[in-house]
Amino acid sequence: MLKERGRQRTDSTHIIAAVRQLSRVENVGETMRQALNILATVEPEWLRGQAQPEWVERYKDRMDQYRLPKSETERLSLAQTIGRDGEQLLRAIDDPAAPVWLRQIPAVITLRQVWIQQYFPGAQGPVWRTAKEHGFSAAPVGIHSPYDPQARYSEKRARSWVGYKVHLTETCDQELPRLITQVETTIAPVPDSEALPVIQADLAQRQLLPAEQLADAGYVTARRLVSSSQQQIDLCGPPRSDSAWQARAGTGFAAADFLFDFQQQQARCPAGEFSSSWENTTDRYGKEQVKIKFAVTTCRPCQQREQCTKIDRRILTIQPKAETRALEEARQRAQTKQYAMLYAQRAGVEGAISQTVRRSGLRQARYLGLAKTHLQHLLTATAINIIRLVNWLTDVPLAKTRQSAFVKLMKPVPLTC
Ligand code: SF4
Repeated sequence: MLKERGRQRTDSTHIIAAVRQLSRVENVGETMRQALNILATVEPEWLRGQAQPEWVERYKDRMDQYRLPKSETERLSLAQTIGRDGEQLLRAIDDPAAPVWLRQIPAVITLRQVWIQQYFPGAQGPVWRTAKEHGFSAAPVGIHSPYDPQARYSEKRARSWVGYKVHLTETCDQELPRLITQVETTIAPVPDSEALPVIQADLAQRQLLPAEQLADAGYVTARRLVSSSQQQIDLCGPPRSDSAWQARAGTGFAAADFLFDFQQQQARCPAGEFSSSWENTTDRYGKEQVKIKFAVTTCRPCQQREQCTKIDRRILTIQPKAETRALEEARQRAQTKQYAMLYAQRAGVEGAISQTVRRSGLRQARYLGLAKTHLQHLLTATAINIIRLVNWLTDVPLAKTRQSAFVKLMKPVPLTC
């Protein structure tokens, strides 16, 4: 019932971690509390010699918004106090007289990471970080709860959440049941395009690579178009649009309006002028790119400069040849009727997401940590596959995309003769 080199479609959705969402003060307080409770269990005698009497009052109860001081100043003062407590505990753990293995306890590792993320080292002790003065950790590393330190913050459109992301890939061949072939769970901020190679590698390992893979714009970058094509996969989806102001304006000279000769390492602009420099370089993530410049003496007297650049020369950054060509082809293809008909089938994968969310509560992680959350997703997908197989074997028709009563009412009535 599964066919290699068939058609499959992929989509992702957000997963909310199985932990309470904490404010920053709650987060540091709970991190300290967790470390104390673990140390009290595994090395009680050592901790008794280190703990301060006031810690009992401060950390005996769960940190909760309603128990925290109401005024900003008092909360800041509490955050600073917790910071000093944590630093004192870490100093004691790092003391050569302390058992070395204490440093390897996960709760202590989390304490150390959270303190780096939430406090700035000051001369008088740890200073509560602010976005303006010290900045915060990037989303892929920021810990939001000591009880699930792998759960991460992310945003998509108007939604923000702390947790994970799951990608589901399912078959969509005619005359065959729709079955989930791959489940990939990542931390929340990982972009869809970064998960795609992992999904494809897993499908390849199980001889389930598709010939066509339908996915939304999040997956369809120039690099993924090229890497998919190298595995004989036609990645079909809306290619990323050019976000430069020239392209957004619609009247400016976007990169697509230039001609690039990768052999001669030269670009030609819409005014017919040639570039003065071509540099093969890498971006800050180490990915290859090409930086092209036009001479100031060419651009400054140009009549069309306003449509092209806001400085006295045009500078373009493009991707290497294969990626640039793949993107151009994908953008042209996206204008065709055949593409629209093929891509329309991608929407069906939203039914798979909806089914797993409604029937199995996929949206909410039941366990702590990436590995167990992934296991939950695998079990959910297995259960859904069994339901789908039974339905297919017993000729239950596929569910139609749900429409609201209002949309159904307002549908145009077909004309009759
Ligand atoms: S500003 Fe420079 S790059 Fe742009 S169109 Fe004029 S000559 Fe060409």
